[in-house]
Amino acid sequence: MSDAETLFERIIAREIPAEIVHETDNTVAFRDINPQARTHVLVVPKKRYRNVAELAAADPALLGEVIGTAAKVAELEGISQSGYRVVFNTELDAGQTVFHVHAHVLGGEQLGFFGR
Ligand code: C5P
Repeated sequence: MSDAETLFERIIAREIPAEIVHETDNTVAFRDINPQARTHVLVVPKKRYRNVAELAAADPALLGEVIGTAAKVAELEGISQSGYRVVFNTELDAGQTVFHVHAHVLGGEQLGFFGR
């Protein structure tokens, strides 16, 4: 993993503006700048891992916390009953563009099936 600071570290450090919707000791949740659903929030661990596989291998408890924050965000956004999707794009074929692991929380409307 490169040592270059990612965009998300700068958001976590409040060096780049973002609409933060929830924060815990180890995670931050903020609105995606280019929303793909009525609700689209990103959950990132403050400690950087490149992708979800690296996070799962290194710190499964922190991965659990990321998922827990995603569930909390759904609750705060009022979509925990209507339904939502949690997605980790992982590496290039999945369209990962920021190499600081993040969960997309998507909902607030009927979501289409996805794949290709
Ligand atoms: O999974 P992927 O790496 O493609 O997701 C990165 C996400 O970060 C994109 O959905 C993009 O819109 C979002 N983003 C953001 N704020 C930025 C830059 C990117 O919310 N300043």
